[in-house]
Amino acid sequence: MSLAQRLRDALGPDSVFEAVEDTVMYEYDYGLDRSMPDLVALPRSTADVQLLVREAHSAGVPIVARGAGTGIAGGAVPVRGGLVISMARMNRILEIDQANRCAVVQPGVVNLDLSKATERFGLFFAPDPSSQKASTIGGNVANNAGGPHCLSLGATVNHILGLEVVLQDGKVVRLGGNIPEALGLDLTGVMVGSEGTMGVVTEVTVRLMRLPEAVRTALAIFASVDAASEAVSALIGRGLVPSALEMMDKLALSAIEAAFHAGYPPEAGAVLLVEVDGLLEQVEAQAAVVDEVCRASGALDIRLAASDEDRARLWAARKGAASAMGRIAPNYYLHDAVVPRTRLPRILAHVIEIGQRYELPIANLFHAGDGNLHPMILFDVRETGILDRVLAAGREMLNACVEAGGTITGEHGVGMEKQAYMPLIFSADDLGVMGKVRSAIDPSGNFNPGKVLPTPGGEVAATKAVAAISAMAQDVWI
Ligand SMILES: Cc1cc2nc3c(=O)[nH]c(=O)nc-3n(C[C@H](O)[C@H](O)[C@H](O)COP(=O)(O)OP(=O)(O)OC[C@H]3O[C@@H](n4cnc5c(N)ncnc54)[C@H](O)[C@@H]3O)c2cc1C
Repeated sequence: MSLAQRLRDALGPDSVFEAVEDTVMYEYDYGLDRSMPDLVALPRSTADVQLLVREAHSAGVPIVARGAGTGIAGGAVPVRGGLVISMARMNRILEIDQANRCAVVQPGVVNLDLSKATERFGLFFAPDPSSQKASTIGGNVANNAGGPHCLSLGATVNHILGLEVVLQDGKVVRLGGNIPEALGLDLTGVMVGSEGTMGVVTEVTVRLMRLPEAVRTALAIFASVDAASEAVSALIGRGLVPSALEMMDKLALSAIEAAFHAGYPPEAGAVLLVEVDGLLEQVEAQAAVVDEVCRASGALDIRLAASDEDRARLWAARKGAASAMGRIAPNYYLHDAVVPRTRLPRILAHVIEIGQRYELPIANLFHAGDGNLHPMILFDVRETGILDRVLAAGREMLNACVEAGGTITGEHGVGMEKQAYMPLIFSADDLGVMGKVRSAIDPSGNFNPGKVLPTPGGEVAATKAVAAISAMAQDVWI
C-alpha cells in the first residue's frame, strides 16, 4: 500500500492530499524558492504527528513542518519533495496561566491571536514579527522570529519556556518546562531557531509579559537616511533602549502612505518610528530624551501619536508595509541582514548605490534599533533576465553587510536561500559542530533536508527553485 494511502487510512481522507491542485500551494513561502511536495498532511493532534513522522521516516521520505508559510528564506519549501506537515489545524490555546505569566499553545496558533487572548489578563506575547497577523507560534519558534518590539524584550528564544517535540522515530520529548532556567542542557534553546531540521514542534509553553502602564509613540521626520541613522546611534548611545525603533526611507514611505493614509510624510527622506513604554513617569522622561536626541541629530519635525487610534494606525501601516510595495512593483525580494548599528549610515549608502548600479528600485524599512536591515528589491519577474540582476544585487548587499562586521540573517532564518552564505560567517569546524548536533537529534536527516547547513548541491537546488519562478512567469504571464 502506498504511503499516501496508509496516511489517509489513519488520518482520514480530508487530512492527507497528493493531487497537484491540492498540494501546489505548499510549494512556496514568501521567498523566491519553489519546490513541490509529494504529499501534504494536516494533523489535529500530537498523536497524528507521531504517526505521520513514523510512517514517513520508515519510508525514507523527507518531512517538512509548515506554519503559515510566511517565512522568507524558503524554510517551509520542500526542496527534496516528501511530506509537508501543515500545523494549521493544531491552532488551540491550551492554557493561559495568569499567575505564572505563561501560556501553553499548539504550534499553529497565529502570533497575534495569542496576544489578543491574553490582553484581558494584562499580558502579551512579546515577539511581534510584522507578519504577526498570519505567522504561527511554531514558525516563530523554528525561525527564532524577531519583530519591532524585540529591541528591548529580545527575540522569540527569550520567550520560550518549554517545547513538546516529535522526533524522527515518532517519540515525543518535552524540553524545558513552565519555569525559566530549567535544569540540564538547554535543548529548548537548541530547538528554537533550528528551522524544522530536528523535529516537529507540537506544543509550546511561552512566557507572557505584563502590558506596559504607558506607551509613547513618536514619528521623527528627517531629510535623509543618513540623518535618521545618526539619530539611531545617538539614541542608543544615550543609554536609552526604546521598545521599538523602526526606520522607513522615502520610497517605502511613498508606498505606505498611499496604501494606508496613516499620517506618514511621503516627502520626507526618512522617518523613525520610536516607541517607549513602561511606568508613566519613566515614559514621559524617555519621550523627552527621544525628542531632544532626534532634534539634535537633525530631525525636521517630531510628531507624537495623540491617541491609541493614532498609534494603532502608524503600526498597522508599518506592519502592513510589505503589501504596500505592490504599488511600486509586482514582486519584491526582501533581504534580511544585520550590521553593527554604528555602520548603518555607511551600509545604507552602499545598499542605495548597489540598487542604482543594478537599476533596481530599493525600499528600505527595518528594525533600525537592532541594526537589522531589510532592503526590499522591487521588480517585475516578467522582465526577461531581471531575476539574475535581483539575485546578484542581493548577494552584493549581503557581502557588504558581512564585510562591515554584520551577519547574513537577523530574523528570517537561513532556510534554502542563505545556506550557501553560511561559510561567510562560520568556519568548517563551526559548521561541523552544528552538523553533529543536528544529526545527534535527527540521525536520519529526514527533517527539512537541504536547509540551514550547507549541503552538497544545496546551492544548485536553491538556484533551480528560484529559476522555477522565472519559468512560471513565462508560462503564466507572457
Ligand atoms: C510581510 C512579512 C513581514 C515579516 N516580518 C517579520 C519580522 O518582523 N520578524 C521576523 O522575524 N520575521 C518576519 N517575517 C518572516 C516570517 O513571518 C517569520 O519567519 C515567521 O516566524 C514564520 O512563521 P510561519 O508560521 O509563517 O512559518 P513557515 O514559513 O511556515 O515556516 C518557517 C520555518 O519554520 C518551520 N516550522 C514551522 N512550523 C514548525 C513546527 N511546528 N515544528 C518545526 N518546524 C516548524 C518550517 O519548516 C520552516 O523552516 C515576515 C514575513 C512577511 C511575509
